[in-house]
Amino acid sequence: MQNTKKYYAGIDIGGTKIAFGITGEDRKLLARCSMPVGPERPFDVIVEEMAGAVKAVAADAGLDPGRIASVGIGVPSTVDPKTGRVAFANNLGWRDLDLTGEFKKHWDIPVYVENDADCAALAEAMEGPAAGKNVLVITIGTGFGGGLVMNGKIFKGGDNSGFEPGHSALVFGGELCTCGQRGCVEAYASVSALIRQTREKMEARRDSLMWRECGGDLAKVDGRTSFNAAKKGDVAANEVVKVYIEYVAAGIANLVTLFRPEMVIIGGGISEEGEYLLGPLRKSAENRIYAADILSMPPLVKARLGNDAGIIGAALLGMVPPGLPDGAAGKGNAAGGGAEPGAGGPV
Ligand SMILES: [Zn+2]
Repeated sequence: MQNTKKYYAGIDIGGTKIAFGITGEDRKLLARCSMPVGPERPFDVIVEEMAGAVKAVAADAGLDPGRIASVGIGVPSTVDPKTGRVAFANNLGWRDLDLTGEFKKHWDIPVYVENDADCAALAEAMEGPAAGKNVLVITIGTGFGGGLVMNGKIFKGGDNSGFEPGHSALVFGGELCTCGQRGCVEAYASVSALIRQTREKMEARRDSLMWRECGGDLAKVDGRTSFNAAKKGDVAANEVVKVYIEYVAAGIANLVTLFRPEMVIIGGGISEEGEYLLGPLRKSAENRIYAADILSMPPLVKARLGNDAGIIGAALLGMVPPGLPDGAAGKGNAAGGGAEPGAGGPV
């Protein structure tokens, strides 16, 4: 019998690599691959390679490229999903570029462009118990990023500038953030911030087990150093972890108070700490939300899709997602002002 199912391609552009995948309508990845970004290379060369790589991964999935219904691209940037333009991707050096138009030079197919964290949030918000709910997804890594899916749509703000959960102020006049402001949530609750906090404590506590965890080398401190030592009973490491979790909790509690999501999902490498992180995080966030005695803290859970969330979410941009009736994808966004894709749906 002829296979009439639809297939969708997702591209997740990261700071160091670009990941590609093909999904069916069930949102399961059929094949995936990745390549280094090489951000020093010209934009048009990178995009041409991307088009070739998507066709190659389609072949890996046993599909002729003609079977692919659309290509969704997640970019670490402020993007305009209506035009498919990349406004500014600071770690790629991309500024005001027509990503959709460039891609279509190599493959004339409906193309959707979205912020990468929003793609991941969209994918996580459709999985398991999160499906159909208003969901806040926080990804904790180098930064403190995330997305908010409300009423089946990615929350974009009034001018499509998006949602920057890491860049509201947590400490007035505090640590300098990568964005140029001081005291942002990201400057205290990202893994980069945890690494700084770990090193500071290690310098003050030469007897800490954390020194052994990183081979006595401050340069080798990572997001696991303090957690690993804390689990072994190290007092100084416990202090680092406790304070760090308070920062994360404060950032999340602010967002819960503002948006009242029905579920909070934590992704990024740090979520691998599981309940060791999530248990105290739940308690601390619960104590910090507005009217905590009346309004309950929504369930706070670990992300389910891991590193695949970005690819799947990008592919989802071209689908009419079941459970997201208002988030239905429209036409390709460079094909004459099509409807906003998965992010917004028909306007
Ligand atoms: Zn900031």
